[in-house]
Amino acid sequence: MNYKEILEQIQTEIHTQVNTGKVATYIPELAKIDAEKFGMNLYCINSGHYQFGDYSERFSIQSISKVFGLTLAMCIVEDNELFKRVDVEPSGDPFNSLVQLEYENGIPRNPFINAGALVVSDILISALDKPKQEFLDFIREIADEPTIDINPSVFESEKKFSHRNAALLNLMKSFGNINNPIEEVLDFYIFQCAVEMSCKELSTAFMIYANQGKKLITEKEILPSNKIKRINAIMQTCGFYDEAGEFTFRVGLPGKSGVGGGITAVHPGQYTVTVWSPPLNPKGNSELGMYALERLTTLTGLSIF
Ligand code: GLU
Repeated sequence: MNYKEILEQIQTEIHTQVNTGKVATYIPELAKIDAEKFGMNLYCINSGHYQFGDYSERFSIQSISKVFGLTLAMCIVEDNELFKRVDVEPSGDPFNSLVQLEYENGIPRNPFINAGALVVSDILISALDKPKQEFLDFIREIADEPTIDINPSVFESEKKFSHRNAALLNLMKSFGNINNPIEEVLDFYIFQCAVEMSCKELSTAFMIYANQGKKLITEKEILPSNKIKRINAIMQTCGFYDEAGEFTFRVGLPGKSGVGGGITAVHPGQYTVTVWSPPLNPKGNSELGMYALERLTTLTGLSIF
């Protein structure tokens, strides 16, 4: 497969696309980002990295962090403990919806909507001595990059506008599904969202999901393959807000997006790929990012379907 030529073609096509997306503004610091940024990094198990554009520039990973939070939780807590507090069904509702949670007695639909990630954060706080440090250490280890950190301005900015996430926490606490103080869980959740990584670093970190739970170069096992299978399944069915069906239909890979405009997707046994373009479509996924990934699976003829 000539991945170099395929990425060159995608790069050419990207320049001709009209982008009707809008950069997220509800976290004021995110609104400042240059809408023209575009990066893509493909990391193949057999042939390494291919890339173009702003692939090495760090951006706010936002909800992509929910995959790392879940993975860390699955490293330290038994699945039956974890999945009794958060379900694994697609939500079909916006990522920060309160309505479903009320109907379903405070059990979030899945770990990749905000309510689910807040429960996972609560579980991590109970299980870890230094949750923030250990969360960063985990990402640094799987990305092989000790300099990965949060953006303090994004962290502070989201803290000032987190009323809806606080509401989700209060509602879940009223149902007995949050054990730690609300302020502490909110602070840790926002910390995770404020992590910054580049397309290349995200593709490297996500290699554990393409390589049966092992890092690629050292083959060090982070999580057993049966648990990785579960995380990939949740990414496929729940990784794209209420557009997971559309993403599966168009792209055909498990993955996770964030309101910072990043998307990382996985082809188990083959590659990981990350795209970054800040303008989002009405469902909150990067408009050009989705286009680029659709072209990748079409031009390679490879998807999991
Ligand atoms: N920190 C964001 C929030 O909770 C994450 C949103 C996202 O990327 O989906 O609102």
